[in-house]
Amino acid sequence: MDDACGGTLQSTITCQRCQHASHCFDPFLDLSVPMPKRKSAVLSTSSDVDLHACLRTFTETETLDGRDKYMCVKCKSPQPATKRLSIYSFPTILIVHMKRFASSGGGVMSRLVSHQKDSTPVRFDREGLDLSAYASPAVRSRRAVYDLYAVSNHSGSLGGGHYTAVAKHLKDDQWCAPIPTPHSSATFCSFPCPSSP
Ligand SMILES: [Zn+2]
Repeated sequence: MDDACGGTLQSTITCQRCQHASHCFDPFLDLSVPMPKRKSAVLSTSSDVDLHACLRTFTETETLDGRDKYMCVKCKSPQPATKRLSIYSFPTILIVHMKRFASSGGGVMSRLVSHQKDSTPVRFDREGLDLSAYASPAVRSRRAVYDLYAVSNHSGSLGGGHYTAVAKHLKDDQWCAPIPTPHSSATFCSFPCPSSP
């Protein structure tokens, strides 16, 4: 599993005062990407989003300030900083998991936490998913293109639902069942190894 699906994420924090950058590397077995933030607080199913929008949200630069200031080793004091995730090493088989379940409410004084599922359909091409834009600058020249191999869908709500999956047959490269349309609620996607190095 590790050999086939394991990759490495790079987290880079840059001090906004002295520009010192610190790097942290963490292994992953799937990319768990958030659904893009939308203007409306109401979770809607009226429009779909592209998988690249999820990946851009996953790798967008985050500002660390206020209580979240970064303890800079050069400045030796908490400083405003930026944090960005990128992919340092790509797996042979890429699993992308869309984080559809979210919690809200439930502050310190409240036990009321609401859980919601974002059922916005996610679009993605069957071939040629190019992740090079999300790669660490150190590995950006490497090819990171994947083709769709399998899809797992969660149907229903948090109260009740089930998972279904479709995949390509290894023997003849044919799908075992129709792939859910771009308007389905795909939750996991597997992509096989890049077709060329
Ligand atoms: Zn600093």
